[in-house]
Amino acid sequence: MKRLAYLVIFCFFLISTDLWAVVETTIYDYSQTCKITHSDSSWLPSGCPEEEGIKRLLNIIQQSPRGEKLLRDAKEKANLRGETLPELIKAGESSLTDTSLTRRFRPSNPEQVVYEEHSVIFINDSLGFVDALMDLTHELTHFAYRGANNPYTHDFSAKNFVRKVIEAQGGEADAIFTECLVLHQLMPNEVLNRDSCRNIVDPNLQYLSRSLTVRELYKVGKKSNLATELKELPLVFEKASFISSAYGEPYPIAAFHEFQEVKTKVCQNEKKRLDIMRETNGRSPASLRTYQKMSQNYLRLCQ
Ligand SMILES: [Zn+2]
Repeated sequence: MKRLAYLVIFCFFLISTDLWAVVETTIYDYSQTCKITHSDSSWLPSGCPEEEGIKRLLNIIQQSPRGEKLLRDAKEKANLRGETLPELIKAGESSLTDTSLTRRFRPSNPEQVVYEEHSVIFINDSLGFVDALMDLTHELTHFAYRGANNPYTHDFSAKNFVRKVIEAQGGEADAIFTECLVLHQLMPNEVLNRDSCRNIVDPNLQYLSRSLTVRELYKVGKKSNLATELKELPLVFEKASFISSAYGEPYPIAAFHEFQEVKTKVCQNEKKRLDIMRETNGRSPASLRTYQKMSQNYLRLCQ
C-alpha cells in the first residue's frame, strides 16, 4: 500500500497528540538514532537499524487489543514455519506481503505433490510512522489469516480468485478493516483523517464497517471494457476508493490481472509435470489412468 509523501507529512501534524501519547507510554528504550522527533516523522530515521524500527512498530501495534491478538496469531503462524515474526519483516520500496507457493514432487511419482508456502513482509521505508504502523497491521493480517490461494485446486477460476483476494479471511477487506480498527484503538482521533478509514465508516451508525469495506473494494469506476469473467462479481460502478499499489488499478481489475499471470505460470508447470510423467511412467493401466486424469485437469484449466 503506497501512500503519498505529502499526505504523510500533512497527517503527522494532525495526529501528534495521540501519537506521542502512545509512544511515550512504551517501556522500550530505543537508541538515540531511532528516536522519533517532531521534526522527523519517518518510522525508520536515518541511521536507525531496521530491526529496531520494526521492533518499535510491533510494540506499538501490541498496545491495541486487536493488534495484540493479531500479533499472537501471526507469531503462531511464523513459529509453525520454524521462523520468528521479526525475521519475516523487512524494510522495502513498498509495503506488501510477498508469498510464494512451492509445489514439490518426485519425477518418479508426479501425482504425489507437497506444497510449501513462504512469506516475507515488506514495509515501505519512506513512510511516516503512523502510515507504517497501519501498513504493518495490514500486511500482518494477510500473513496471519490469508489461506493459500492454491491455483492447483479444481475451483481455481477468475471469479473465485478475485472474490478470495477481496472477501476471504485475511483478504483485502479484512486487512483494511483491521488496520483502521487498530488505528482507532491506538489513536481514535486519527481515523477520520485517513482516506482508507474514512471510506469505511458507516455514515449513519458512525462505526467501522466490514461490509462497507467489501463494497468499497468492488468499486471499479465507469463500466467499460470489463472482462466477461468479472461481470459475475458484485462490482460497483462508482469511482474507486481503493487502488492496488501493485497494479495501479481498482482491486477487482488488479486481482484479475494477477489471476491471468498466475494461470500462465500454473499452466506452464502443469505442462512440465505432464511431460515428466509421460517420460518416466510405465504403460500399466494405473499409470495410464493417472496420466489421463492429469491431462483432463490440464485441459480444463488451461484451454
Ligand atoms: Zn493488502
